Amino acid sequence: MLQLARRIGRAKPSAIMLVADKAKQLKAEGRDIISFSIGVPNFLPGDHVYAAAREALAKDSGQYGSNRGSDALLDAFLAHIREVGLDGYTRANVATGIGAKHVIYNICEALLDEGDGFAFATPYWTSYLDIAEILDADIQLLPCPASQDYKLTPDQLDTALAKKPRVFLFNNPCNPTGMVYSRDEISALADVIAKYPETWVITDDIYNRMVFDDLGYHNFVHARPELRDRVIFIDSLSKTYGMPGWRVGFMAGPEVVAKAVTTMNSNHITNLPEVVTAAAVAALSGPQDIPVAKCAEFQAKRDQVMTALSQVPGLICPKPQGAFYVFPDVSVAFGKSHDGVLIGNDVEFCAALLEAKGVACVPGSAFGEPRAIRISYTCPTPQLAPGLQRIVEFFAELK
Ligand code: PLP
Repeated sequence: MLQLARRIGRAKPSAIMLVADKAKQLKAEGRDIISFSIGVPNFLPGDHVYAAAREALAKDSGQYGSNRGSDALLDAFLAHIREVGLDGYTRANVATGIGAKHVIYNICEALLDEGDGFAFATPYWTSYLDIAEILDADIQLLPCPASQDYKLTPDQLDTALAKKPRVFLFNNPCNPTGMVYSRDEISALADVIAKYPETWVITDDIYNRMVFDDLGYHNFVHARPELRDRVIFIDSLSKTYGMPGWRVGFMAGPEVVAKAVTTMNSNHITNLPEVVTAAAVAALSGPQDIPVAKCAEFQAKRDQVMTALSQVPGLICPKPQGAFYVFPDVSVAFGKSHDGVLIGNDVEFCAALLEAKGVACVPGSAFGEPRAIRISYTCPTPQLAPGLQRIVEFFAELK
């Protein structure tokens, strides 16, 4: 019998896409569906980005490019991260990939051998678990329930790092919770990290330009510059610039890691296409009015979601301060019925909500938190209020 590799048996399709596909199918059948499911920013980059892409297309030689990323792109990224206080990095510290997901995958492959310890918090972005499982890492999940605002505490981190995992993966602002760590919280976690020099730290901060309420974006390297020897910062154009399908991601960190990512690129992708590179340079270096305006818009939408959810008795919903997700704990609905349909868990909750009200959300179990659901609120503005109204009605109709 022909066999596939064992690792492919451990790979799973994205749970988020399953919900999105079901919503698409119902829409195709003529149902009125409002989707709060996929984490897409739902806006387009500025004209200057398209102009740069067109210009590159007109003169694209179609030759192979640099495995690390073109010098122009690396320089644009270095200037971009200097704006958030990450300075002192050179081209040798950075590398690119086909989206942050690809960069994270490459880094994990470069750092983790089979069975190596890999620690991260729950709720987590789904791909962390999938990547860890494909690589057969020894996964250590650190539960951060709604009662602790979905945030990792220094004590939890201390206990986790005392087990000497090879990699600790952190995400700030967080998908799916939208939570953002304050300067003091980052500083307290950085103090713990400093105690455990044998652990690499990947900090997936792709939503770092989407922080609300003047909280500011803070990084372990800001708190403790000496950690730059083992902290790897991840960034992406996908969410900040409305460019998820252009597939551009980045890392900044130790030279040895950037070199490893470059080597992985040389074996996987060779290079980012020239047209995409030109668009990426334009996005990073051009006017920043769209990302700034979108961040303000998302903050207003976050407020709208929180106001609507506050009408539901028993719902626990820590207030997000970044990204574009709200992650309410809906366990108050478990054991109740809607229109005779019993809701036992988050998956049944989302299925009943979609069926009864045509609103698609993602079950929290996709992110390792089965008491919650994820609401991604980047839908067209006119759909937000009716979608929220339907959720509130759904709760009110539970028996
Ligand atoms: N990291 C987090 C926390 C995300 O939410 C996502 C996308 O949803 C990614 C990484 C992947 O981003 P990219 O589109 O750059 O691969």
